[in-house]
Amino acid sequence: MKTKGQDAFAVTFWGVRGTLASPGCEFQRVGGNTICAELRCGDRVIVFDAGTGIRGLGSRLIEQERVRRIDLMLTHVHYDHVEGIPFFAPFFAPDFTIDVWLGRLDGAASTEDAVKGLMRRPYFPVGPDVFRADVTYRQVAPGQSFDLGDGISVKTAPLNHPGGATGYRVDYRGRSFAFVTDTEHVPGQPDQSVLELIEGVDLFAYDASLTDAELPEFTGYGHSTWEEGARLREAARAGAFLTIHHMPFRTDDELDEIEAAIRKLHAPSGVAREGMCVELATFADSAPPRARAAGSGS
Ligand SMILES: [Zn+2]
Ligand SMILES: [Zn+2]
Repeated sequence: MKTKGQDAFAVTFWGVRGTLASPGCEFQRVGGNTICAELRCGDRVIVFDAGTGIRGLGSRLIEQERVRRIDLMLTHVHYDHVEGIPFFAPFFAPDFTIDVWLGRLDGAASTEDAVKGLMRRPYFPVGPDVFRADVTYRQVAPGQSFDLGDGISVKTAPLNHPGGATGYRVDYRGRSFAFVTDTEHVPGQPDQSVLELIEGVDLFAYDASLTDAELPEFTGYGHSTWEEGARLREAARAGAFLTIHHMPFRTDDELDEIEAAIRKLHAPSGVAREGMCVELATFADSAPPRARAAGSGS
């Protein structure tokens, strides 16, 4: 990371695809791994969602000896957000302490129950009892705020998604980042709980699975649009937003067009890409998010 020590505050996207991983040359510039983002707050690491992108992050964290505590904050447990859990190397390392956070969901009695439901036969060969890290499962109440220590404050908000989902905001050393996926908006009615969550935030990642033109066909699936992300940014006086949860059929070329449309009116907002790192500690509203390969070492 460019910014080291207590001041480091940066988000890196390890997976930006929603619904289903999408390998192939038409998708490789933006990336095909499903949802996972890493937020560094000094030497603390918060991971948002555990899609296939979390595998690469896990390998990197194993190599970095100064990080041994992780807070994994799950928005919900649809497959695209949790399918990487059994492949996250720190779960198998006894020197890691991992807190897994999840809001209340239809059909899961607890956070532990939700993870056990994913890792059980006949869907998976072994259960989470194979983990060797010190794992604590924690439940988030709707709208709950809590302190993670080391100056890290977390705020949550319930999202509008079938079965439930939770949005998260982290404030650290005067800067802020929010992670808002998956959620559906009602056209013409900005979601008040999302607006409260992202009020004045420096940067938020937002579910832009769809476009406004596509939304009527997908009503009830629980997703939003890049245009709504732009409207929310203005209404909440947020610095910028980056779209995530790109649909598996959305090619690199199509996402370039969407990004150009966003930039025209809302620079430095844009499209999140796998490997993009935004350094929030030095992020200015007028500067474009700096994209570079994850862990390029610069
Ligand atoms: Zn999803
Ligand atoms: Zn979902």
